[in-house]
Amino acid sequence: MKGVRFLFLMLWWPLVAAQTPFASSVVRNEALVHFPQDIVFQLDLDPSVTLTEAVLTYDVARFSCLEASSSVPVAVTGSQLAWTWVMSRSGNPPPGTAVSWHWTLTDDAGNQFNTPSQTIVLTDNRFEWKQLTNGRITLHWYEGLNVGPTLLDAAVAGLTQLEQEMGILLQDDVTIFIYDSSEAMRDAILYVQDWAGGVAFDEYNTILMGVPPNIADTWGRTTIRHELAHLVLGQVGRSCVGGSRPTWLEEGLAVYAEGEPTEEVQQDIANGIADNSFEPVRSLNGAFPAHSTAAGIAYSQSYSVVAFLLETYGQEKMQQFVAVLSAGEDYDNALETVYGFNVDGLEQAWRHSIGVADRAIPPTPTPLMAAAIPTLHPLAPPQSLPTTVAPTRNPENTAPDSAAGSNADTTIFLVALTLCCLGFLLLLLLVFVLWRRSRKRREEPSIKDFADDADENS
Ligand SMILES: [Zn+2]
Repeated sequence: MKGVRFLFLMLWWPLVAAQTPFASSVVRNEALVHFPQDIVFQLDLDPSVTLTEAVLTYDVARFSCLEASSSVPVAVTGSQLAWTWVMSRSGNPPPGTAVSWHWTLTDDAGNQFNTPSQTIVLTDNRFEWKQLTNGRITLHWYEGLNVGPTLLDAAVAGLTQLEQEMGILLQDDVTIFIYDSSEAMRDAILYVQDWAGGVAFDEYNTILMGVPPNIADTWGRTTIRHELAHLVLGQVGRSCVGGSRPTWLEEGLAVYAEGEPTEEVQQDIANGIADNSFEPVRSLNGAFPAHSTAAGIAYSQSYSVVAFLLETYGQEKMQQFVAVLSAGEDYDNALETVYGFNVDGLEQAWRHSIGVADRAIPPTPTPLMAAAIPTLHPLAPPQSLPTTVAPTRNPENTAPDSAAGSNADTTIFLVALTLCCLGFLLLLLLVFVLWRRSRKRREEPSIKDFADDADENS
């Protein structure tokens, strides 16, 4: 045994010997963050080392279905290396995200060395942040003494309701950043819709909200519960097989998580019952209406449908339903598996429960398939679920959040695909016509040749 260990040491000795001076040649290794614009990775080495190759590998802490680190070769000129991740081009992770990196260096003798992995947390240095934690929720804010405690309290109450009444359990710790306006929040995130007042980044377990201190206790309280529901639902329903949730479920659960329904929600439902004016539930699988009033009614109707499912069939069925959807099942099959009816059956059962007559439903519904698979590369713009701005800032603007956006994207994609197919068919037709013409032209001289031959023979 001793002999074997000796041989092992002999084999490893040259490598260890080669690495030691290399490792000590690192003079400076750091990342300078200019949030949200860029991160400059800098490495200074002792000038006595002659590098031939350098590769920077960096990784963003987030949920991902694929190995998500990025490696970039960096030009070697002298003993100082630098590479800039321009986030203003790629989209930036939210504040609070940890970015880790290391360098792989090769010298002129062919020795290779990895610098130890280092980590930096992205912070939005424009403000002096205060911080509070309760259980698994940490909240950062900078404006208004009571804003932090008020909103953390609402978030904790919302989480308790999600877990105890809806069976939707938090998977990972959550970080929340409260800005004092939606404008300040939007400056922290490149590529977010102009109307967004709150964004839940479920793959980063982070929520950003713009809450003016004077409405923290009203709009802020309900909105933080709404956003937290999206985030926790996003964690529970994570899917690496393209599974998704219908918009009525996503928004219905989020409105349910806000707490007791507001007067507005109750009024929408009462009007829907009185006028028999509800939308077909199937039409709420996808994008909500763009018009603000109609969108508001769609949220209230979704709340009513989800309340029916939770109050009639319980939270375990809801947990199963979310799980079956994230396994990639389409909406009709998932409902059928868990509740024994499809979307139309759900609609009739729900209408009975609120005392509205059946709606005539066409016999062969088109199944609505799962929506887009999430973007997984760390350089892609962050996936987000924005919420509308605080009402005092922009009362008109109540565009639905991004579940609807992704459905609009799917429609654009389908239209583009159809146009592409038409173009391809036209091209095929053109090629066919040209081929026919050229063949005709080839056939004419050949007949003439034959005639010439026949003349010669005769
Ligand atoms: Zn929402």
